[in-house]
Amino acid sequence: MKKTMAILTGVLLLLSLTACGPKGEPAVQQETAAPIPAATKAPKAETQAVRQVGAYAVVVNEGSRKDTYPYMVQTEHSTWLLAKDDLTLMGEETFYAGLADILQYVDADMADAQKALAGRIPAQIPPVEIRTDFCGKAEISQSTGAYYNSLANMIKLFHSWEMARESLLHEYVHYLTFHCAEKKTVIGFYTEAVAEYVSRILCENRMMRSMDPAQAYGPEMVAAMRAWGVWDETLGGPDYIKSALCESDAFARGLYDDVSYLCVGQFMFSRKADRRLPEHLDQLCYGEAASLALYLMETYGVDTFLDNWDLPGDKVAELYGLSETELLTAWSEWNAEQCEKLGIRMEFAAIREY
Ligand SMILES: [Zn+2]
Repeated sequence: MKKTMAILTGVLLLLSLTACGPKGEPAVQQETAAPIPAATKAPKAETQAVRQVGAYAVVVNEGSRKDTYPYMVQTEHSTWLLAKDDLTLMGEETFYAGLADILQYVDADMADAQKALAGRIPAQIPPVEIRTDFCGKAEISQSTGAYYNSLANMIKLFHSWEMARESLLHEYVHYLTFHCAEKKTVIGFYTEAVAEYVSRILCENRMMRSMDPAQAYGPEMVAAMRAWGVWDETLGGPDYIKSALCESDAFARGLYDDVSYLCVGQFMFSRKADRRLPEHLDQLCYGEAASLALYLMETYGVDTFLDNWDLPGDKVAELYGLSETELLTAWSEWNAEQCEKLGIRMEFAAIREY
């Protein structure tokens, strides 16, 4: 049973590694009247490079938090603060090798996300601040892969460079839609659905694609995903849209009954046998939010979906003249039809064998 739960959790993780907040604490905190901190300034020109990482120079951080983050790297779209403890934890060579892997893709990926949201965000986007925190010192690191904090206006990366490659573009979309955009996404369904849609469906996401999913998931999970119809042999990994449909279908059929998960409203939730559809949109898991977004875009148009990203979860159904239950029921039926058409089905048997 323990292992069954691990596999189930693994599937949830498949679509929610980028979950961005711990239980009871909104990941993307509400903006306050306090001035929004400006992006970290580029290092001074005279700063000496301490080493070269790919095309980029690591320099001494002479700005704020230099005791915790003694080094930094500046790219076109990002300012990286590198934690002293992470260098000690991983060892310099391993740390910088992981940094080099991600830096080779970061600007192209961030440029893609900006392009995908063109017209909805300003033309000029300042570099985003990114801090490493692989040591697990932050409490939030226990329940999330990465985190965009709108008050401090920075992204924190947790656990490992692998996790960073998986999560960073999703968090960057939060920065774009929550900090940079004039009309901001609202915490919950819209914030997460837009981040998933842009980072995993619209963008190539080179950082994430450079991972080896077969290695990351392991042979048992890969075999299960093949059997469920979500593994893409060309990609060498799970197809994101199919995974979202599959996970949504699994919730509807009760495979996740009583399994606790972090929902898009940034709290832990679980479904019950007598209530498998959530009561409102903020109780959806990340994969379900992506599936619902696809349904809304297919049914009502992409612009209608994106033009209303400032709506809270409980106002979305109203936009389409429906109650939340009517909307969730219609989407769930559509999701089941898609799975039927594409031959997608998560099986109890396949999970419980492990
Ligand atoms: Zn998120």
